[in-house]
Amino acid sequence: MGVLMLEPVFKEAIWGGKLLQNFGYEEAGDKAGECWGISAHSSGDCTIKNGEYKGKTLSWCYQNHRELFGNMKEEVFPLLVKIIGAEDDLSIQVHPDDQYAAVNENGALGKTECWYILDCKEDATIVIGHHAKDKQELEEMIREKRWKELIREIPIQKGDFFQINPGCLHAIKGGTLLIETQQSSDVTYRVYDYDRMQNGKPRELHIQQSIDCITAPHQDYQEERVIRHKQGLTVERLVKCPFYTLEKWEMDGTYHFQMERPFVNVTVIEGQGNVGDIPLKKGDHFIIPSTEKECDFQGEMTLMVSYCCLLYTSDAADD
Ligand code: ZN
Repeated sequence: MGVLMLEPVFKEAIWGGKLLQNFGYEEAGDKAGECWGISAHSSGDCTIKNGEYKGKTLSWCYQNHRELFGNMKEEVFPLLVKIIGAEDDLSIQVHPDDQYAAVNENGALGKTECWYILDCKEDATIVIGHHAKDKQELEEMIREKRWKELIREIPIQKGDFFQINPGCLHAIKGGTLLIETQQSSDVTYRVYDYDRMQNGKPRELHIQQSIDCITAPHQDYQEERVIRHKQGLTVERLVKCPFYTLEKWEMDGTYHFQMERPFVNVTVIEGQGNVGDIPLKKGDHFIIPSTEKECDFQGEMTLMVSYCCLLYTSDAADD
């Protein structure tokens, strides 16, 4: 057995560019916007690169070898990890929660996501929330296209973290490279796209759904970033929500990992090393399956680590 090394899927976007290439993905095209690093979603299903399941997709493994994922009951692999390189601004958007998506999107899941800024240009900003005082003012500002008044834009820097709950108006702005961890869902309501054209036409907007879903007034997400020290490892917990827990692991030397989860997603965001006898470098994505009870990490690396919590396992022993 061993960990499942994944082949990422790259996607072009009108806001894409060379940031993913600069990060180290030589295979990413000149207009690449997204690298789907850990995904079993039908829009970009990753292939296993090593071991017994080499050549199989992650969704195939999840459907046929659920024991790798602690025999979880969820119908589909629940998380999706992307690296996003935005040369230009993304549209201003909002995601529904599970209830709204179930009723209005044929039973799809809602979407909670979060962003950790890997790199950004000097004066980079991000859109999080809005300035409307209530739902009525929100609707007026949207219908009257008062975008400047409505949209709340804040400066960002490398290492910042943002949790985007359903209902939170948001957009990544140009010059930003980030890692996104999210529920495995594609439901996005676009409220404003800077009147841009794609193939001569504006991209579709979802004004009514956006008004339905945006929380007003905006509620800023605040959670303390908790740091723990272990032998060979510093763990910083960035968020723990009903859908995922996300941690940043700074590794220096040797770390002996013991499995306590149905599965653990890992992305190397800096440095190099190895897990068992598999070499690791910046940009690698893999899953530690629940069948891998222990493994040894070595090296000087920073890893983004996510796993499911609360819904799937007893978290009583955690923290
Ligand atoms: Zn989003």
